[in-house]
Amino acid sequence: MRAAMERITDYKVIVIGSGPAGCTAAIYLSRANLAPLVLEGLQPGGQLTITTDVENYPGFPDGILGPKLMDLMRQQAERFGAVFKMEQVESVQLIGHPFTITTDSHIYECESLIVAAGASAMQIGLPSEKALQGFGVSYCATCDGFFFKNKEIVVVGGGDSAMEEATFLTKFASKVTVVHRREELRASKIMQDRARGNPKIQFILNSTVDEVIGTKEGGITSLKLRNLKSNDVTDFATQGLFVAIGHTPNTQVYAGQLELDERGYICLRHPHSTATNIQGVFACGDAVDHVYRQAVTAAGTGCMAALDCEKWLTHERITERWDLPVGEEDRD
Ligand SMILES: Cc1cc2nc3c(=O)[nH]c(=O)nc-3n(C[C@H](O)[C@H](O)[C@H](O)COP(=O)(O)OP(=O)(O)OC[C@H]3O[C@@H](n4cnc5c(N)ncnc54)[C@H](O)[C@@H]3O)c2cc1C
Repeated sequence: MRAAMERITDYKVIVIGSGPAGCTAAIYLSRANLAPLVLEGLQPGGQLTITTDVENYPGFPDGILGPKLMDLMRQQAERFGAVFKMEQVESVQLIGHPFTITTDSHIYECESLIVAAGASAMQIGLPSEKALQGFGVSYCATCDGFFFKNKEIVVVGGGDSAMEEATFLTKFASKVTVVHRREELRASKIMQDRARGNPKIQFILNSTVDEVIGTKEGGITSLKLRNLKSNDVTDFATQGLFVAIGHTPNTQVYAGQLELDERGYICLRHPHSTATNIQGVFACGDAVDHVYRQAVTAAGTGCMAALDCEKWLTHERITERWDLPVGEEDRD
């Protein structure tokens, strides 16, 4: 049995997650003198810490390493008074105030909460895949397609996202091979037709990736593909691997309290707002967004959540700006 945990009431606002959304929210909250606590979870800095060069985040014309970018965002938030703790949230109690947030080591009470817990790209689960993340293995065509100009690459997956990524990647790659473990693709007909009609795309069906061959210095050189019908394993020469088998939002601990959609993404009450179904709880970043999934969009909605939260606390807990008495709205 676990010893009774310390109950901490020092923080008016807690941010869950320290990716671009959480860090940006923390920068804005701390500059509004709210000194938030940021609970960083198991992946401090979020998804960008598992990539190398980030070339599309504005302000860095020569690109910047993902972990470095996240370190700078964190420093910027700390400079104004945000407190970061490497604790994983295990449960939340959001019915009635104050909210209670229980981590692996403490119980926190707070008046307002920003959920910026992100999402996790699903992985094939191979040690060689993990070792070469950012060195030829990618989970984001928009982010990394540019690095594969005139190269031959493989996309793993059979759904709409895989077809979309494969089609997008033909702008850069000389050849794209879609590898899918079943005979039939799961993608909608229109997405399949578009991919099948693209002369740069070919398909290898009934097959899985068994191993990624390459080095951090030289990148990927080939994949070991297993044909699931014959069980034969062959070497398939390629220079890149895009895994497009889906994302899981990190929202399990809010189920039953925050409204989630059928895929587990947090539902927001209105467009142009980060308010959730619970007064005082705001959500941002990839935990609410299965469409854009970019660092800059996560940072943008992190900013929105901080502004919404600050306004909610200031205006005696009126969630929506359009709920304010006429004349008090000064943001539009
Ligand atoms: C390999 C890779 C490369 C990418 N490259 C680019 C790129 O070049 N450009 C670009 O714009 N985008 C890129 N992306 C996408 C980008 O990383 C995401 O869109 C962005 O990180 C989302 O930010 P976020 O803050 O919403 O969530 P995340 O970055 O996912 O951060 C989530 C945070 O929540 C924390 N957390 C989760 N659950 C809990 C919990 N229970 N308790 C406490 N904390 C918790 C995690 O520890 C983490 O700190 C890439 C993604 C990947 C996977």
